[in-house]
Amino acid sequence: MADVVEALRRSFGVGSVVTDPDITSRYLTDWTGRFKGEALCVIRPVNSWQVQRAVEIANASHTPLITQGGNTGLVGGGTPVRGGIVLSTQFLKGIDIDVNSRVAKLGAGVTLSELNTKAKEVGLRFAVDITSRESATVGGMVATNAGGIHLIRYGGTRQQLLGIETVLGNGQLIARMEGLHKDNSGYDWSSILCGSEGTLGVITAVAVKLISVPLHRSVALIAVDTLSGAIRIMRAARREFANLDAVEFMSRNGLELVQRLRTEKWPLGELPPYALLIELEGDDIEVEDVAVFLESHEDVLDAALASDARADGLWFWREQHTVAINHFGVPHKLDVSIPIGGIDSFVRYVSELLELEYPNVRAVIFGHLGDGNVHVNLLNVEESNEELDHEIFATVASFGGSISAEHGIGRAKVDDLTLTRSPQDIESMRTLKKALDPALILNPGVLFN
Ligand SMILES: Cc1cc2nc3c(=O)[nH]c(=O)nc-3n(C[C@H](O)[C@H](O)[C@H](O)COP(=O)(O)OP(=O)(O)OC[C@H]3O[C@@H](n4cnc5c(N)ncnc54)[C@H](O)[C@@H]3O)c2cc1C
Repeated sequence: MADVVEALRRSFGVGSVVTDPDITSRYLTDWTGRFKGEALCVIRPVNSWQVQRAVEIANASHTPLITQGGNTGLVGGGTPVRGGIVLSTQFLKGIDIDVNSRVAKLGAGVTLSELNTKAKEVGLRFAVDITSRESATVGGMVATNAGGIHLIRYGGTRQQLLGIETVLGNGQLIARMEGLHKDNSGYDWSSILCGSEGTLGVITAVAVKLISVPLHRSVALIAVDTLSGAIRIMRAARREFANLDAVEFMSRNGLELVQRLRTEKWPLGELPPYALLIELEGDDIEVEDVAVFLESHEDVLDAALASDARADGLWFWREQHTVAINHFGVPHKLDVSIPIGGIDSFVRYVSELLELEYPNVRAVIFGHLGDGNVHVNLLNVEESNEELDHEIFATVASFGGSISAEHGIGRAKVDDLTLTRSPQDIESMRTLKKALDPALILNPGVLFN
């Protein structure tokens, strides 16, 4: 194994191959603190040639190569649990924007915030937005097909992709970086790599669509009694407002944690059983129309409305959830998709299951209501209760849902993939994996067991 580090040092230079535990430690644990690993070293290539060289060395020595972007993933996909080399993309930078085509070409290590800061200079932005924007990289967003808060209007990361550059597990560099809006000349590598969680190739650069930054936005934070009520409000809002771009839900448990962590006063009196947040974006938003809509809807218990910069104050309640949950424990994060009509029954089922069989476990449930994405966060899960995750995933399958809405399978859900993907389906995915990464060096243990 010392030979591997030596070979990397010869290719990268001594300073670029990091073995100092003070520096490597932050690459060895995932964001939630649930997954921990060890690595021979961390390498931080600055171009795709270096990535290709690292893949060659990993292949020649049969050493696992774990790609890591901002390390904000929530299913342990970027943690070197089986040892090996961690390849950090953080120095794969560079952003080039074509305003005519509204296309950005950028290094995989550019963070979402960096992309938006640059795009804003020309009145544009990336359509997908996630709370981890300061650290999450565009390469990581592509590898996990990140969803985020605007999916109902613009789609997820896959829908924004116009090109990709990647070093496959077999060492081949594929560059499809023309950034064309239309290109039907064969297999689409962007789609194949998107959501592959670092198991097929190391993404080194991407070309993505950009959209206009709207002049105005209006946000309403709404207290409701039930999730069915929240869904009725969402249905009506979708009919009423063409420029609805976010519909999020929260429950009392989560709001309580945010309140405890941030000592902020909830703006609507008592904490309600559920809260709904809706956002409209456009150049001509009439705030009065939103106020009239909220006043006329019988499921609205109470509501606060804010526009433009002040809207962040209302988003605060939703955006602080992930941080607050992590502050109060090491969560099991079951990010699932449920057909929207079944969300209410699913959430009731989970609450009753915990009450009856796992009284010590605390569930914090929130998510993207508009696309059926329910984040079930379980706190105080002991080792003896690990079967709880599987029980909930089995219920998700019985509702016709998916065990991963946006974070991927990672290491956390490998044992449950068979619940929602057929044997033929999984076998075909394995065939693809073996074709592109024949020595199985890329992210072993992620996605497949
Ligand atoms: C506070 C918070 C809020 C979040 N909100 C959302 C949300 O709303 N929606 C959502 O979808 N996710 C969300 N996430 C999860 C996470 O931010 C996303 O999954 C993000 O896309 C991961 O990007 P990253 O650069 O941090 O990737 P990492 O965590 O470093 O890696 C994630 C996976 O992608 C692989 N990978 C990373 N970069 C590359 C690359 N260049 N080539 C190949 N494989 C690669 C890794 O091997 C790993 O399997 C949130 C996380 C946090 C902490």
